[in-house]
Amino acid sequence: MADDAERGKAAARRATRSARGAGTALTTERGWQYAPAPESREMVSIEPEYGLFVGGEFAPAASGGAFETVNPATEEPLTQVALAEAADVDRAVAAARIAYERIWGPMPGSERAKYLYRIARILQERSREFAVLESLDNGKPIKETRDVDIPLAAAHFFYYAGWADKLEHAGFGPDPRPLGVAGQVIPWNFPLLMAAWKLAPALAAGNTCVLKPAETTPLTALLLAEVCQQAELPPGVVNVLTGAGQTGAAVVAHPGVDKVAFTGSTEVGIAIAKTVAGTGKKLTLELGGKAANVVFDDAPVEQAIEGIVNGIFFNQGHVCCAGSRLLVQESVADHVVDRLRRRLMTLRLGDPLDKNTDIGAINSRQQLDKITKLSAAGEAEGAHRWSPPCELPKKGFWFAPTVFTGVSQSHRIAREEIFGPVLSVLTFRTPEEAVSKANNTPYGLSAGVWTEKGSRILWMAQKMRAGVVWANTYNMFDPASPFGGYRESGFGREGGRHGLAAYLDV
Ligand code: NDP
Repeated sequence: MADDAERGKAAARRATRSARGAGTALTTERGWQYAPAPESREMVSIEPEYGLFVGGEFAPAASGGAFETVNPATEEPLTQVALAEAADVDRAVAAARIAYERIWGPMPGSERAKYLYRIARILQERSREFAVLESLDNGKPIKETRDVDIPLAAAHFFYYAGWADKLEHAGFGPDPRPLGVAGQVIPWNFPLLMAAWKLAPALAAGNTCVLKPAETTPLTALLLAEVCQQAELPPGVVNVLTGAGQTGAAVVAHPGVDKVAFTGSTEVGIAIAKTVAGTGKKLTLELGGKAANVVFDDAPVEQAIEGIVNGIFFNQGHVCCAGSRLLVQESVADHVVDRLRRRLMTLRLGDPLDKNTDIGAINSRQQLDKITKLSAAGEAEGAHRWSPPCELPKKGFWFAPTVFTGVSQSHRIAREEIFGPVLSVLTFRTPEEAVSKANNTPYGLSAGVWTEKGSRILWMAQKMRAGVVWANTYNMFDPASPFGGYRESGFGREGGRHGLAAYLDV
């Protein structure tokens, strides 16, 4: 990549020329401008404060504590949310226990299924409201919440509703039993979708739930609680405790919880595994990743470029299975990087509620600081940093899409989960080298491979140590397909028939 610098300058000149008057958006190479197309905020009504959802009712925390949630795109405070502490966790677990023993556990699967179908349908009916609220609280583009998060969340409820009365055919014996009360702690990157991933299989299997959403993104979980009321779900079957890390820790440690399901950082996952060890609680952990997206010289380049962009810039790179390490065959590396840069010139960064926006806000200042720090480490360690020219909005948390070339395997940006729109590019010469570099990580969640040879896809899929391997595509999700990792990416599967096993006594 000897002429990297020259190409970068030329691209920057082209982009700057066409950027005039483009506001905060990255611009198109062809100079196209887009009129603003904001989704209306009007369909969402945010209350000035929210209580905890326990036993089918919203109520303040016992201590009266609360915290603020903000719109990360503007730093505008959205509302105050109750802060659950130990007494609230006790109350929620007790409500879930009563609901499990008296109502939900004994209820025939065909009846449970009706509630799940009802929740799925209401999610579809209120999908625009959910999409706008998710974008406001999380910062992700409306095009993603509208087309991915919300439809997939509804699809999970539909899918698991179908299993509720067929558990004896799921391959876990003639009469698989639920576990009891599930304590579920979820992150901020896909707030509603992660709630659906956790709640739908748990409820279908006959468990009741205490869900702890992330501190920075509590609002769609609370709206989902309202949907549970609307669906007339029996009180106590789903409980939502908003709060911080300590709330999550209290849920996990509560002796009345039979099953713990966690998605989030490896660090917290390890702490949870220690808490749960020896208690007899069943545990599933879906943790971090540093996925390799491997592009061979025979790959269809334009298709691969779309897969690379989707792999790392979807949801601002806040994706556990993000293709954050691009491994590209040396003979085509210059060409691929050139095409990638040109493609990045066409992405639009800005208002998450604008339907044209490709890249939204970073979810929190804390996450922005982490991305900034790790990117600075990439430069300090000698990698070459490049971003398309773009003016970031003055308020809010923003980070331009960034590509590092000249990355070596020892660099922190090739080893640590950045969880932001930052791609590290490495090269390889042979398939064996690709596999060795792809597997040179403590994680094992996902990987991608781009080649026209079917036999090579199968060979790579066997060799790469990752729970999911996508071939000639990336970030494809379906409720029927199991997802999960191993090594430092955790254990257990979510989705599909396998996802039921986590909530059954098998
Ligand atoms: P965490 O793992 O801290 O948070 C995930 C969830 O766990 C949140 O609901 C959090 O609450 C809760 N939590 C925090 N501490 C504990 C605890 N001791 N016991 C039980 N629950 C707890 O992720 P962060 O949001 O702090 O992000 C840190 C880094 O983790 C990111 O930079 C990213 O690299 C990685 N990450 C990975 C994710 C993945 O899916 N692989 C998802 C999210 C983050 P609260 O939000 O209130 O702190």
